[in-house]
Amino acid sequence: MKKDQSLTRRRALLAGAAAVGAAGTAGLMYSGLSDGAPARSAAPAAGPPARQPALKPSTYRLQPVAGYSAPHHAPARVPVRHEPFLRMSGRGNTMVLTFDDGPDPRYTPHILDTLAEYDVRATFFVCGEMADWNRDLLARMSDEGHIVGNHTWSHPLLTKLTRGQIRSEMERTSDVIEDAYGARPQWFRAPYGAWNRAAFQLGSEMGMEPLAWTVDTLDWDTPGTRHIVNAVEDGAAPGVVVLSHDAGGDRSQSVRALREYLPHLLDSGYHMTLPRRRTT
Ligand code: ZN
Repeated sequence: MKKDQSLTRRRALLAGAAAVGAAGTAGLMYSGLSDGAPARSAAPAAGPPARQPALKPSTYRLQPVAGYSAPHHAPARVPVRHEPFLRMSGRGNTMVLTFDDGPDPRYTPHILDTLAEYDVRATFFVCGEMADWNRDLLARMSDEGHIVGNHTWSHPLLTKLTRGQIRSEMERTSDVIEDAYGARPQWFRAPYGAWNRAAFQLGSEMGMEPLAWTVDTLDWDTPGTRHIVNAVEDGAAPGVVVLSHDAGGDRSQSVRALREYLPHLLDSGYHMTLPRRRTT
């Protein structure tokens, strides 16, 4: 990207952040979006855009990598939700990066390297069968302070399964995560964003909150690195949860895109953060 284009993009990022700033403080918002669908799934902000003072870029190096580790306490019971969380709120100028379907030894290490380079933490919704084969990558995620969430064992469409099958998909995955990562997951994401009542109830029983996303990069469809970068940068706003993938196909575009959009977001004043549980 030429320098003038880059500057224009950064200004656009800041303008977008200011426009939806109020939405980020309006509480957790829901909508009925679904994952993996061909439609672009940027969730509309609730209510009209509100004005907010221009955002000031600031340092992103909040915590040193050394000595930092993910929270390893036991998951608390959570209420039975009826919709997944789509964004985080009340967190200031922050965004959440999530990577699904892995870990994959061909791509996940590169993503972890880039996150480490910028001292950024992310959330990985892993599949149990992938995690089982790549336990070393879950250990690395733990060491480097990332969050690991449950994305079922084999990535089925939950709406086609019995309650017992859903339970098995979720429980086995939490078991392997506990073993390799060091703690049971506190977050769950349904494959394809296809949630049903059983998934919410079982997630609650297992101490996991349902997390969807705000911005879908559509990287699963290998639309090109540029498309992925643009999807993230155009969708950037406080509280936004970004969906990408580190497995499930050739994810070299996703790896390259992260190397491009992450420094842009940080330069624009965003802090990449981890999802936090609500106490109510
Ligand atoms: Zn998935």
